[in-house]
Amino acid sequence: MNDGSMDPEVPAAVQDLFDADLRRALIALRRAIHADPELSFQEERTAQKLERALAPIATDIRRAAKTGVVARIRGRDSSAPLVAIRGDIDALPVREETGLPFASHNEGVMHACGHDVHATWAVGAADLLARNPAMGDVLVVLQPAEETGRGAPAIIESGALDGVRAIFGGHVDRRFAVGQVVADEGPLAASADTFEIELVGQGAHAARPHESADPIVGVGALIGAIQTIVSRRLNPAHPGVVTIGTVHAGTAPNVIPDRATLRGTVRAVDAPSRRLMLDEVQRIAETIAAAYRLSAKVTLELGTPPIVNPPNATAWARRAATSLLGESSVVPLGFLNLAGEDFAHYLERIPGCFLRIGAREPGGAPIPAHAPKFYAAEESIFVGAAVLAETARVASEALSVER
Ligand SMILES: [Zn+2]
Ligand SMILES: [Zn+2]
Repeated sequence: MNDGSMDPEVPAAVQDLFDADLRRALIALRRAIHADPELSFQEERTAQKLERALAPIATDIRRAAKTGVVARIRGRDSSAPLVAIRGDIDALPVREETGLPFASHNEGVMHACGHDVHATWAVGAADLLARNPAMGDVLVVLQPAEETGRGAPAIIESGALDGVRAIFGGHVDRRFAVGQVVADEGPLAASADTFEIELVGQGAHAARPHESADPIVGVGALIGAIQTIVSRRLNPAHPGVVTIGTVHAGTAPNVIPDRATLRGTVRAVDAPSRRLMLDEVQRIAETIAAAYRLSAKVTLELGTPPIVNPPNATAWARRAATSLLGESSVVPLGFLNLAGEDFAHYLERIPGCFLRIGAREPGGAPIPAHAPKFYAAEESIFVGAAVLAETARVASEALSVER
């Protein structure tokens, strides 16, 4: 933590955007949010802090999706296309062990994913856009409940994004130093869907298997067959995972049960692979069940889609990040992340780009998110705010020309 001077990694082009008052206000806001973390859809005090911070600079400040806050920053031309910046605001049920002076004082709840910084840089971006407006208006979307994957769909459902032509957001990442930004085109995070398969047969005495339709033998065959989805059906150039996480059947060693249940997850980074794997889970379950004189009840629960950054919007974000940080600081992700991120719901409907923003201070360790010792370096607030504000300007300009 340093209250005074910027890290040397943060270039002057970013530092100069923040005067001492704004810098102090953003650090204080981040620390207040971090110290008072709230779980998904319970972010009431967080929303109030954000509303207070936005009041002097934004118009149309309102709630969306219960504890979300949406505000508008006026552009130079009110008829120009509308662009949105999203910051998520919820915390996790994790007991904080950072030892920070502004550590959580809510027992068992912690900003272990850096959403305290995401909320703050969205407010910072709003401030920069109020001082130096984009061509069109910019919506600042402070989204609740990212961790449960329910916040983004609720924001969409609320209608708050109607008319938005491009949307941008980012995530702190301690694998990258403060001042580095990832703005890669293509897949960035995986879809995360779950399935449940119930095989129903006929129970019997363990000594009289011929009177049964044994679901346990069916489960044995099914587990092996499901492994062929990734190894034999999926194009090996496309990453994917099918994992069976639970298997439940039976009550006693001398009883053949009448049913068995499997649960698992499917991960993909493109829509066709996702569809293929889910369809194959269903088809293989039904076919294997039939082969063993069982019936299969397959329940697919769609979670977050994959994040796939489209070319145009990603080019705008890259241009913005490069102009602020220099070519060498816009770095490739270098590895595919098969975790989920609910920003993907926006990208299914609206072009945009999801960024990774370096959050490791000089000499710091690459602490993984969701760990009790995780925190984002304070300076990442300013990089995130500057890059998102400039990305909104570039996008707004480009969309205005296209009109
Ligand atoms: Zn998280
Ligand atoms: Zn997160």
